[in-house]
Amino acid sequence: MIQLVRGFKDVLPGEIELWQDIEDIMRNIFEEFGFTQIRTPILERTELFARGIGATTDIVEKEMYTFSDLKNESLSMRPEATASVVRAYIEHKMYAQNPVQKLYSMGPMFRRERPQKGRYRQFYQINAEVFGLYSPKIDAELILILMTLMDRLSLTEVVLHINSLGCERCRPAFKERLQIFLAERIETLCPDCRRRYEVNPLRVFDCKAQGCRESLEGAPTILDHLCEECRNHFNEVRDFLNRFQISYKVNPRLVRGLDYYTRTAFEVLAAHLGAQNAVAGGGRYDGLVKALGGPAQPGVGFAVGLDRLASLLSDRAPGLVKQPNVFIAALGDRAQDRAFVWLQALRFEGIRTEMDVEDRSLKSQMRQADKSGASYVLIVGERELEEGAAVWRDMNTKEQETVPLEEVVEFVKKSVMGIASA
Ligand code: ATP
Ligand code: MG
Repeated sequence: MIQLVRGFKDVLPGEIELWQDIEDIMRNIFEEFGFTQIRTPILERTELFARGIGATTDIVEKEMYTFSDLKNESLSMRPEATASVVRAYIEHKMYAQNPVQKLYSMGPMFRRERPQKGRYRQFYQINAEVFGLYSPKIDAELILILMTLMDRLSLTEVVLHINSLGCERCRPAFKERLQIFLAERIETLCPDCRRRYEVNPLRVFDCKAQGCRESLEGAPTILDHLCEECRNHFNEVRDFLNRFQISYKVNPRLVRGLDYYTRTAFEVLAAHLGAQNAVAGGGRYDGLVKALGGPAQPGVGFAVGLDRLASLLSDRAPGLVKQPNVFIAALGDRAQDRAFVWLQALRFEGIRTEMDVEDRSLKSQMRQADKSGASYVLIVGERELEEGAAVWRDMNTKEQETVPLEEVVEFVKKSVMGIASA
């Protein structure tokens, strides 16, 4: 038997309903906040991610699915959405129409990480990006959107961490301070961090190795080294969060896995998820559009991990497969043919209807009806055809009545819809 590739998974009926609910809720929120959807391809030129995410990030260094196609062009499966959305913003000159664009997207991402609970090689994200606005109001608005999602999903046990990563004016000086601090502890760092120390010392804060964590005790933090503009920006973000009554924890050690972040960075964490506890993350990336060859337009966005959200929610309530309302038990060729047409007509009326097209025994069909969870069964056999009326059975009350064959669709519609709206 051929099995799934390691780190990949199927989302099966029974689970998918929950995923769809989350997507629907998120889509509604985005509409309310004036976002429009964008879909970008899964494959992009490798260079886009190398430049857009950062050549020295874990993602680009070791987690991408990269291959060369027939013309020896290096392509990669997207590990995140922002770089692609920025590419589209530039490529289609969306900024020329209006530099301010509020975009969202949903879809699979690919990272060749070590598979474990909450960590897959294909996982799903919901992403938001806003271009063209420097104002801290937008950072606060994006966080509000994210926390509104948590709220509508009744996920009250999550915590929001925020930080500021400074800008190209204040970060270089901080990087040097950090390097001096790390230089004295270089032997206690993991091999990865020894490398990071050279090229991108802030990334050491993101390391999960015990030794590295301990070495960072007493390390200088970026928050203490922000320039005045960055400090004001951060304070305003906090001020709006307070006004929106969103609680948060300022975490001066929060850095993000991508190189391009400036100023606001945030993460939503769920204690219940154990080691893989981040359900969403985001931040501002004011230099990215320009770095990818576009105009000097700022950006800010977030990504929600759908797999982890779904797993949080499914621990609480198992997903429900939508049950049919009506099951048609049809016996004999003639009744089967007639029922098959009713079946489709009822579905067009928006009534979830099922039948057994294999014409099994009445006993078997009633068992299937029961198992399907249908509220009503319409029974029709040779005798009903002769008498010109089918039998309508309410599965809860067990009451039965007869329905003239010509009126079946209208009758079922009235009974099902009538009860539903009562
Ligand atoms: P982590 O610290 O868990 O590796 P990350 O910082 O790499 O997360 P982001 O790049 O910020 O994650 O992506 C946003 C969200 O996507 C995460 O908060 C998480 O919910 C989800 N996510 C990231 N990587 C994976 C993965 N391999 N499997 C499942 N979900 C993931
Ligand atoms: Mg990661």
